[in-house]
Amino acid sequence: GPPPRRKGNPRLLFMGLRRCGKSSVQKVVFEKLPPAETLYLEATTKIERASMQSFMTFDSAELPTSLPVQSPDYDHASIFTNIGSVIWIIDSQDEYLTSISELLRLAVFLAENYPRINLEVFIHKTDGLSEEYKYDTFREVRQRVQDELTDYGYGDRPVSYYQTSIFDHSIFEAMSKVIMKLLPALPSMETLLTKLCSTCRIQKAYLFDTLSKIYIATDTSPTFLKDYEVCSDYVDVIVDIKQLYGWRDEGKQGDQNSIEESMVSFDKSGDTYIYTREISNNLSLICLMGQGSGPNMRPVLDYNVEILNGALQKVFKV
Ligand code: GDP
Repeated sequence: GPPPRRKGNPRLLFMGLRRCGKSSVQKVVFEKLPPAETLYLEATTKIERASMQSFMTFDSAELPTSLPVQSPDYDHASIFTNIGSVIWIIDSQDEYLTSISELLRLAVFLAENYPRINLEVFIHKTDGLSEEYKYDTFREVRQRVQDELTDYGYGDRPVSYYQTSIFDHSIFEAMSKVIMKLLPALPSMETLLTKLCSTCRIQKAYLFDTLSKIYIATDTSPTFLKDYEVCSDYVDVIVDIKQLYGWRDEGKQGDQNSIEESMVSFDKSGDTYIYTREISNNLSLICLMGQGSGPNMRPVLDYNVEILNGALQKVFKV
């Protein structure tokens, strides 16, 4: 059955018009459904919940269609209490003006009733769109929503926008950014990773939740989808190897943080070096290094990653 609900789990609520992709996003990210199989998903008729137990539990729920959130007899307390983020999904391959006006009603409702909930907008199904059209749609949606929110007097309420598709890595990157905002330990993890990067001349370091391929922290340098793609492929390698050798059994869990038990690799891919280190059963550190970082960097890396590992254990109080 689903893992018990704990206080402090990142809790997400997916909303949007019919067939915008709410079930697909949840099933692909949290249940690892192959994207092509989402074609056969049944329409949602009740509130559906999914949850994923990994290094932490992600809870998500989905509202069937756009529910009239403002209606007075509607029990929104039971839906919005304890929600960290509402994700509004817009089907960018469809006519989206209705979706935008529903989104605005939601945004105003949240601003007035649940100002602490993050509002995240996925401009979704960007696969199959030309780069130019994709960009124009993104800009148009963002502009319209911001203009109207300003008219309502909520122009200063932060709303974030992402371009997503379940057919590429963009959905995982967007989900990473959404979830990172809900993690209280984020600033400490960010500081630790940024320090590691400067000490070891690393271009980009990601701390991944191994199963979901959501990264829960990265250093403070800019993020690029390409970097995420390379690194998340390495997370797949870790998962494959673990499945090959069997997941660690319960009895061995006491050893999960020792060096001998974890996987470390240092590979060259084109002109980039990739350092992979399993931090714990559910967390993987993946680092990208450019030219000038050869295998001779390896001992320095191992040493500093060991320090990082110790610090992270303290952050999570493992
Ligand atoms: P829901 O009613 O909001 O839960 O929508 P579904 O998740 O059932 O998705 C409706 C349709 O959109 C399905 O046929 C999915 O395969 C399709 N879909 C979902 N996400 C994407 C995407 O990123 N790109 C494309 N092209 N189709 C998608």
